[in-house]
Order: sequence, then C-alpha cells, then structure tokens
Amino acid sequence: MNIEDEIQNIEKRTDYDRILEEFGISRIDKLLPKIGRENIFFRRGVVFAHRDFNKIVDRAEQNKKFAIISGRGPSSDLHYGHFILFELIRFIQEKYNCDFFLPLSDDEKYVFRKVDSIGETYKLSLENAVDIFALGFKPDNVHAYISSITPRIQYLALSFSVNQTYNAIKAALGLTGEENVGTVFYSCIQAAHILHPTTDHNLPVVVPVGLDQDVFIRLTRDIARKRKITSPTSLYIRFLKGLTGKPMSSSAPESCVFLSDDEKTIKRKIMNALTGGRSTVKEQQKLGANSDVCTIYDWFEKYFVKDDKEMSEIRKGCKDGELICGLDCKPRLIEMILNHQKQHNNRKKEVIKNLEKYFDHEIDLSVLNREDDSF
Ligand code: SF4
Repeated sequence: MNIEDEIQNIEKRTDYDRILEEFGISRIDKLLPKIGRENIFFRRGVVFAHRDFNKIVDRAEQNKKFAIISGRGPSSDLHYGHFILFELIRFIQEKYNCDFFLPLSDDEKYVFRKVDSIGETYKLSLENAVDIFALGFKPDNVHAYISSITPRIQYLALSFSVNQTYNAIKAALGLTGEENVGTVFYSCIQAAHILHPTTDHNLPVVVPVGLDQDVFIRLTRDIARKRKITSPTSLYIRFLKGLTGKPMSSSAPESCVFLSDDEKTIKRKIMNALTGGRSTVKEQQKLGANSDVCTIYDWFEKYFVKDDKEMSEIRKGCKDGELICGLDCKPRLIEMILNHQKQHNNRKKEVIKNLEKYFDHEIDLSVLNREDDSF
C-alpha cells in the first residue's frame, strides 16, 4: 500500500463530523471558555465532543460534586494509546476534585472469551491498576474495584437487566444471536459500572470514551431514563494514531508501544512508523514534508510535546524541510518515550506500596510477586 492510500484510510477513519451529526453529539468548542485551555487534550482537540458535559461543568461551578468513570479490561498490554484517556481523567480529577471510579472488568474479558477462567486476570487487574495510578493519581477520591468480585455491581446489573431488551442490545452491538448470553448480559454490567456512582454515591457521572464506545453510553442512558436516574454524560476522545497508519490496537503490536516494550523494540517500532516524509533526505530538504498525515507528529501533538511553541516549531520545521523524519523527529520521540517509561517505572514502586488505598475492597497484594496469574 502506498502513502496516498494510507492517507486516505486515515482520513476515512477520522470522519468525525458526519458521525457526530448522526448521533446528536455536541462539539466541545463552545464549552472551552468555561473549561479553560490549560490542558493540551482540550486545547488541541484531543477531546473533541461531548454529551451533556455542560451540565457537569455547571455543577462544578456551583461547587457540587460529580464522578468520572472509566473501565479497564485487564490485559498484559497497556500501551501509550491508553494513557491519553487516563491522563485526561487525572486532569479532570485534579481540576474539579471529583471522584474517579475504575472498574477492572475481568468479567468482560471472560464473557468475550479473552481468558479461560474468571480468576485468571486477577493479577493483571492489579498490575494494570498500578500502571494507571502511576500516571500520578493520589488514592484520595479513587474507587478501584474488580468487577466480578464486587457484589453490588452484579446486583445493579441484575436490577438493570429488566430495563433492556435483547433486541435493543442485539441491534446496538450488531450481535448475530450466536454469541454466548454473557456478552448480552455484559451491557447490563457496563451500565452498572457507569451508574453505580450515581445510584450509590449520589454523584452524576461523566464517561470519557472513544466514539466506538458511544453505543454503551446510549444503552446506559436509556436505562437511566427508564429508572429515573440522572443520565450519564460523556466526553469523546481522539486516540493516538497507530504507528502503521492503521488504527492503534493491542492485537497489531507494531501499531503501538507497550509499556512492557524494551528499548530495542521501541526503536524498531518508531523508526518504522508511517510519516509524511519524502522518499529521500534531499527531496525532503527541498520540498518539505506533510505533518498532517504523520503518526510521529500526531504522538507529539496529542501526548508528548506539551509546549505550543515547540509544536509550532516542529510543524514549521517539517513543512520547510528543516526536519528529517529519521534523523530528527523519530529519535526525538524515542528519547521521549524512554524517559517517560523510566519515570513511570519509578512511580510504580510508590503506587504498589499504597495500592490497597485505591481499592474499594480488599486485595491480595501477594499475587504481584507470583509467576502464576490465577486467583
Ligand atoms: S519531519 Fe517530522 S513531523 Fe514532518 S513528516 Fe517527518 S517525522 Fe513527521
């Protein structure tokens, strides 16, 4: 596939305007004067749309509390694409002093047959939690829990199940009818994750998601409406572009950088990443390159370069042919990732010492030292 085809594919997948209009989601722009532009995720359009987040902002202005919730299906492959979501949550939590609920959805992994037994992901749940909290979360106002061993969540899911029809779930998720019933019931569990801060703590919620997850927001809002519970609000995020030019995915390892990747692997992935560069250095120096289609530029802009002046210098340097992909930008990104990884690993040690404080239930910390994943 040549670069023009890759570019077209990227553009097709980011046709957000059409999708927003279709689903009645609002652009975030009008809310920015109230939210502020200090955070790059809002300032640079990483958070680009919302459903009713204005209600949460109004609440915050009146010093009323709310909660932010985002789940994590435990797996060994946390990568930099996940970090945008959790760093955004950390920013919102700090700015508004809201509670953060983190369901570790081992039940999702089980019903979608990613693991053979429910207990298999216990250790991974704790490890993923450590990685998430090492982004700078303090234990205050954090409620982490492993979904399958939290009776209240299973109770709420059962309670909400009578407010959803099989046909609604089938249509929303595009099910064929051949799936196991756990996958159908899982949408009730997800609704329980989302609505639990409201039903049990009287906190309206905001859920930051990618557009592909909006279907669960719609299903949950439908339950909330039927049960006369305050509807969840949502924020929509553009994730990092996959390094290959295709969407980033854990199942396509070359598209992303995992926290567990070693230096050699990180260098290989970044040096092979799709850019908007020319075929030769000489040509690039003469004609410049195209940062609009460059995955390295995307990673700088959405996550690694916080300074706007530095970003505009990169953009100009790229356009004017002063920067060369493999000589300037890629080595720069590699260094940033390696630094980030090193700092992250240091912070993890502190988090592990206090991990129990982040959880709403008891946890068995000894599993973190075991080879075996099971519980
Ligand atoms: S010079 Fe840098 S920003 Fe421009 S296309 Fe190459 S890697 Fe991307």
